[in-house]
Amino acid sequence: MAARLVSRCGAVRAAPHSGPLVSCRRWSCASTDTVYDVVVSGGGLVGAAMACALGYHIHFHDKKILLLEAGPKKVLKNLSETYSNRVSSISPGSATLLSSFGAWDHICNMRYRAFRRMQVWDACSEALIMFDKDNLDDMGYIVENDVIMHALAKQLEAVSDRVTVLYRSKAIRYTWPCPFPMADSSPWVHITLGDGSTFQTKLLIGADGHNSGVRQAAGIQNVSWNYDQSAVVATLHLSEATENNVAWQRFLPSGPIALLPWSDADHTDFIDTAGAMLQYAVGLLKPTKVSARQLPPSVARVDAKSRVLFPLGLGHAAEYVRPRVALIGDAAHRVHPLAGQGVNMGFGDISSLAHHLSTAAFNGKDLGSMSHLTGYETERQRHNTALLAATDLLKRLYSTSASPLVLLRTWGLQATNAASPLKEQIMAFASK
Ligand SMILES: Cc1cc2nc3c(=O)[nH]c(=O)nc-3n(C[C@H](O)[C@H](O)[C@H](O)COP(=O)(O)OP(=O)(O)OC[C@H]3O[C@@H](n4cnc5c(N)ncnc54)[C@H](O)[C@@H]3O)c2cc1C
Repeated sequence: MAARLVSRCGAVRAAPHSGPLVSCRRWSCASTDTVYDVVVSGGGLVGAAMACALGYHIHFHDKKILLLEAGPKKVLKNLSETYSNRVSSISPGSATLLSSFGAWDHICNMRYRAFRRMQVWDACSEALIMFDKDNLDDMGYIVENDVIMHALAKQLEAVSDRVTVLYRSKAIRYTWPCPFPMADSSPWVHITLGDGSTFQTKLLIGADGHNSGVRQAAGIQNVSWNYDQSAVVATLHLSEATENNVAWQRFLPSGPIALLPWSDADHTDFIDTAGAMLQYAVGLLKPTKVSARQLPPSVARVDAKSRVLFPLGLGHAAEYVRPRVALIGDAAHRVHPLAGQGVNMGFGDISSLAHHLSTAAFNGKDLGSMSHLTGYETERQRHNTALLAATDLLKRLYSTSASPLVLLRTWGLQATNAASPLKEQIMAFASK
């Protein structure tokens, strides 16, 4: 399995898009490593969905794909009666992606909760927006992360002839080919696992989360900062049964608090400090004929064991691609969860990258070539930077009770509510 290391080149500093800023090695052609067309490093929600999207794509039926995941396989034997506290709001666009390779059917057969209305209001003023779907379309879906992972794992099992999945397999080293390869050197990316096994790939996709090792190994700059905040997530039991299809979010100076409907009529989930909004702000920006203030359901008790804390931060990779490398999901962008958009942005990356790669595969092009990878980068950076900036602005604007800013955001909320075309555009943008 192990490749023979022939020689070592020095560190290579390259202009953007012309090669990674890493030590590179020249590997002998006599290497017996398996060469994969695509290796996805990181099998979280985004990496596993990426492997599915390629594995089920007709233009990839003759390709070999490898998914590496440091953690164990997550398959739910039975749905427990206790609802998981890790849930995501999934946009209609993300649901369409999951449907395209059959994972959404599993989710529907397990459990999820659609929401059709949303009320968002400010703790420091009377400003409020209420959104109602008058055409009965869903605004989004609240799904347990474990349920999504289970659905993805099931779908990956069904294409095991072309997608190999290695769990408990942490990649510890990525090595790029030299920019000026010798005749006998391998032109592919080399990956070494913790157990010493090695692989080669024509394209390495980094889906290894916000501390991405792929991003670091490729020398891609990452703009990042921590918010002085953590999200608290917990499951609440409501005192009375409700219709339970309304998402509630209130902006407090200490951070937003959101109540998300996602299970039985007498349960709900809440995210404090950052809530879950731009999808919600999306929803919340949806035009509505109903604007009467409603009271959220009252809470009977908090499921004490369900309480968990997540430190929050923002991150954005200066580049999403380099020759033979692409970043997706949190490896490329980390966003405050008040937008409820992190995984939706990752799923959007998948749709875009799969589209560009499938065109390249159809035309017999090299999958690791920058000619189509830059198309992916341009498309997604345009979308993701706008969302990151809007979310960061919302977070800052609502972290204060200073009167001028309260006034500004009250006007902003009311003006946006009154401008239907603007609301339609924002809604369309965030529901992708
Ligand atoms: C409180 C909270 C609420 C949120 N709510 C929402 C929401 O409502 N809607 C939404 O869209 N988003 C939400 N998000 C954001 C969302 O959870 C993340 O954006 C998403 O989980 C990122 O997925 P990922 O697969 O890119 O990264 P990760 O989930 O971090 O997965 C990375 C994977 O890579 C693996 N890995 C890492 N290094 C290696 C290696 N060297 N070799 C092999 N494997 C490796 C890890 O084991 C992990 O499984 C929320 C986030 C928080 C904190």
